[in-house]
Amino acid sequence: MPRPIQALIHTEALAHNLGVACARTPDSRVWAVVKANAYGHGLERAFEGLRRADGFALLDLDEAQRLRALDWRGPILLLEGCFDPRDLELCSRLGLWHVVHTAEQIDWLAAHKTNVPHRVFLKMNSGMNRLGFPEAALRSAWARLNALPQVDEISLMTHFSDADGPRGIVHQVQAFARASADLPGERSLANSAAVLRHAADAGLGSAVAADWVRAGIMLYGSAPDAPGGSIHSWGLKPTMTLKSRLIGVQHLQPGDTVGYGSTYTAAQSTRIGIVACGYADGYPRHAPIGTPVLVDGARCSLVGRVSMDMITVDLTPAPQAGFGSEVTLWGCGPRSAVLPIDEVAQAAGTIGYELMCALAPRVPVAVDG
Ligand SMILES: *Cc1c(COP(=O)(O)O)cnc(C)c1O
Repeated sequence: MPRPIQALIHTEALAHNLGVACARTPDSRVWAVVKANAYGHGLERAFEGLRRADGFALLDLDEAQRLRALDWRGPILLLEGCFDPRDLELCSRLGLWHVVHTAEQIDWLAAHKTNVPHRVFLKMNSGMNRLGFPEAALRSAWARLNALPQVDEISLMTHFSDADGPRGIVHQVQAFARASADLPGERSLANSAAVLRHAADAGLGSAVAADWVRAGIMLYGSAPDAPGGSIHSWGLKPTMTLKSRLIGVQHLQPGDTVGYGSTYTAAQSTRIGIVACGYADGYPRHAPIGTPVLVDGARCSLVGRVSMDMITVDLTPAPQAGFGSEVTLWGCGPRSAVLPIDEVAQAAGTIGYELMCALAPRVPVAVDG
């Protein structure tokens, strides 16, 4: 028998969450962002649930090739554009749309030999200060691209730094609007947090939703604004379940300790379940005592230190549980119990994004429609 740990990818939930993005931005097209192997879900598996998206946005050229190999003929956008002039050949061959965020990428295009002009997304830096042309350089970059025979349609995009937080997006929407005022072309601004929190605003909403939104984390059953928001409050469903089983039970007496470093001491007689899941599976090593874990669908707490292959949980809330009981580290448990990945991330001082992306290669993954 293999070790009992397993991840499940819920393709029906991916489709549901994509539907939430579409419903919140009914006048926009939706890029399903599938970078980082679809946020750890597996590109091919995620594609099953996301095939009704208007396009797929990603970073790695090999992921673009994998999508074409799945027979996806629609738009694919390289969110960081090309990393090397030779990447343009693949863009021509596979019909990839690509972001242009720096002058070097325009130089490469100008030297590129192709008879298929490229669709590009010219990126403006509206305040994030990572990628993109500053306001003052946007028009000249646009004019340079527009003069190139290698370039077909030019779209405009920018990315928000604070769509999930109190600073918000107004300053960036305004900077983008100012810089791009009389430039033609489609526009794309919103990530998941902007789709959920800002796209329906009475004032700026339509400028935020624009022609294309770029939905990532919301598709994968995590709230970008957790813990303020939750998948429950946004109507999203978990798309990844990490589950395992109890492979042992210990009965502690008062004063007994658990695990490396003896970080937990029993105050009374306590049953402890030993779970076949550790940091080598992608479970966060810094998850503290009290991190929620479902055992037989009942909400229990982690005790002691997370080790490479095991964690230990206090079974007090699950008196019927024993050897072989089902354990849900995050996602969907038995009897409709749900443990949002965001709650585990919050307890461990990280975000849902990091946990799902860090699912370890040794964990077998199955698809659950
Ligand atoms: C990753 C990414 C997104 C998606 O962000 P989420 O917060 O996951 O919705 C959107 N746009 C760009 C440019 C990105 O890199």
